[in-house]
Amino acid sequence: MSLPDSMPDATLGATRESRAVAAYLGLALGDALGATVEFMTPAEIRATHGVHQKIVGGGWLRLKAGQITDDTGMALALGEAILAEGGRVQAQAVAHAFDAWMRAKPVDIGHTVRRGLLHFRLTGQTQVPLDEHAAGNGAVMRVLPAILATLSADEDALRHACLTQAHITHHNPLSDAAMLCVARMVRRAIGGEDLPSLYAGEVVPFLQAHPVFVARKREENPSGYVVDTLRAVFQALFDNHDFETTLVDVVNRGGDADTTGAIAGMIAGAVYGEAALPAHWLRALDPVVRERCTAQAMALIGIHAA
Ligand code: MN
Ligand code: MN
Repeated sequence: MSLPDSMPDATLGATRESRAVAAYLGLALGDALGATVEFMTPAEIRATHGVHQKIVGGGWLRLKAGQITDDTGMALALGEAILAEGGRVQAQAVAHAFDAWMRAKPVDIGHTVRRGLLHFRLTGQTQVPLDEHAAGNGAVMRVLPAILATLSADEDALRHACLTQAHITHHNPLSDAAMLCVARMVRRAIGGEDLPSLYAGEVVPFLQAHPVFVARKREENPSGYVVDTLRAVFQALFDNHDFETTLVDVVNRGGDADTTGAIAGMIAGAVYGEAALPAHWLRALDPVVRERCTAQAMALIGIHAA
């Protein structure tokens, strides 16, 4: 991985608000961009799109241009539940919000998410049992509102908020570790830390503690297994030095491309700030989603400051 010596000027000047909004819009942009090529191989993407770099919809879900999927949809549901509780990540409220989201027949839903929400419906419990095999990426893709709501609180509050939302559907050590690493990266990036600092401060200790995440080759066709997902996200994040090329890199690897796009977009948005988001992608994104992401980001970071 090659790290930049210095960051572009616009990135250095970005405010906390700009980085928080860009993290949320980055999540939605990565989801909308990647969904077109979800479950395709890199060779299939090349044959169909050349380099896939426009938000055009389609894909196996037959999306409208600019439409988002479960990654952004679950984040928005989580954020609304947090705001309705005055900024608290309250497990019952979040579980009910996820369940209402599922009842509204979303365009896609992961297997582990569905199973976890059915468990909640049947038992009323807001934590699924520990499962050594359920290391999907679903708790990571939707975690952003928990990070934003605890931005002014301490790291224990961040950790508790993230794990509360995760364990409603995903309760697995690798999923937890990956989510907390991503959450701390986004928190530090919103605080103004650059890529080399995130790498040294979060990624190096994470890889030392969890060597399964160390990639031995270029990660292509990443699955929904959180290890594959994060390997692809980290390679794209640290091999590129702006928002757009980072997202183009990660989604053209195919596989679970909307989710690698969403996670890379959330981190890269926080790193590079709102001015770095491509205007042609923002224009293509569903305007209702764009407005909801922006408003929610501002409300979530404001709630503790008030
Ligand atoms: Mn999705
Ligand atoms: Mn996906």
